Amino acid sequence: MRYKAGGLHLPELGLWLDSHARQGGEWVFISHAHADHIRAHQQSMATEPTFFFMHQRLKCQGREKVMACEIAEDFNHGAAPYRLTCLSAGHILGSAMAHVESRGSSLLYTGDFKLEPGFTGEVCKPRAADILIMETTFGRPHYAFPPRAVIREQALNFCRETLADGKTPVLLAYSLGKAQELIRALEGLEHPIMLHDQVFETTRVYTRFGQAFPPFTQWDHATCRKSVVICPPHGFSGKLRQAVQPCRTAMFTGWAIDSNCRYRCATDAAFPLSDHSDFKSLLYLVKQVAPRKIYTVHGFAADFAATLRELGHDARALSEPDQMTLPMGILTRGLGATARKE
Ligand SMILES: [Zn+2]
Repeated sequence: MRYKAGGLHLPELGLWLDSHARQGGEWVFISHAHADHIRAHQQSMATEPTFFFMHQRLKCQGREKVMACEIAEDFNHGAAPYRLTCLSAGHILGSAMAHVESRGSSLLYTGDFKLEPGFTGEVCKPRAADILIMETTFGRPHYAFPPRAVIREQALNFCRETLADGKTPVLLAYSLGKAQELIRALEGLEHPIMLHDQVFETTRVYTRFGQAFPPFTQWDHATCRKSVVICPPHGFSGKLRQAVQPCRTAMFTGWAIDSNCRYRCATDAAFPLSDHSDFKSLLYLVKQVAPRKIYTVHGFAADFAATLRELGHDARALSEPDQMTLPMGILTRGLGATARKE
């Protein structure tokens, strides 16, 4: 197994897991449709919603294999045959983990995932495996997210108070996944909801796959001031920004756990609504999968691998060197070699 081009390569199987670089001859498993995970590969496998989102964003002309969750598929295009089963990852609509079995051993690649059920999308369903490759975006202990119901109340209160002050509430969230969580969270507000064009298009894919939302409309300059506006952070500028004045802004991101988030985002408020797992949930996933070996990627990968080693697991960070996080004593006792990137 090699970690390369932001993805994992299993050369014996002829398989890539989320390659950032466009691949030609080999199959690529695409875990979900966030921009940093999709490329127009020549041969890709993903769930049906992931392909829908991809086609909105990319010109794809390659071969596509639509995978259904929980249905095992056999492949035999590399040196070794393997069986791949997609499992819901609970991150955004269509997001999936890959459970790969070959020659008597198994591997679970999580992609981005969220164990706590969200307001939209599917519920995360991991499975036991010998090797676990997991994303660890929020892999430090202080990332402890409040229950989603609490964040929902905070979002509703923010909207009610802003409207009572005669201002437009502007909720800033990534257009795929987070924005749809917010629309559902606003159920019961009984106030018009208006979506930035990008959020509107993405939400239509959600409805196509049977997800229900309170009524919403597409962006309209003339009436936006009378609505709750949901907009991606990069879209809140220029004419749109002028049209909603006077307004109050709120950012929805897991990074809102950090006290300086509101200042970094330059918003009036910030709430920790995330489509990733928090630290405790990351640990819980390890318990559920019960692997012999763990590799961590993304975010605080080295920190989380170090935490796992302290708990007695065989864990290594793939995406960054983790020697730095080892206590000096361990290195000087000559165990440094075990911490090398594999
Ligand atoms: Zn993602």
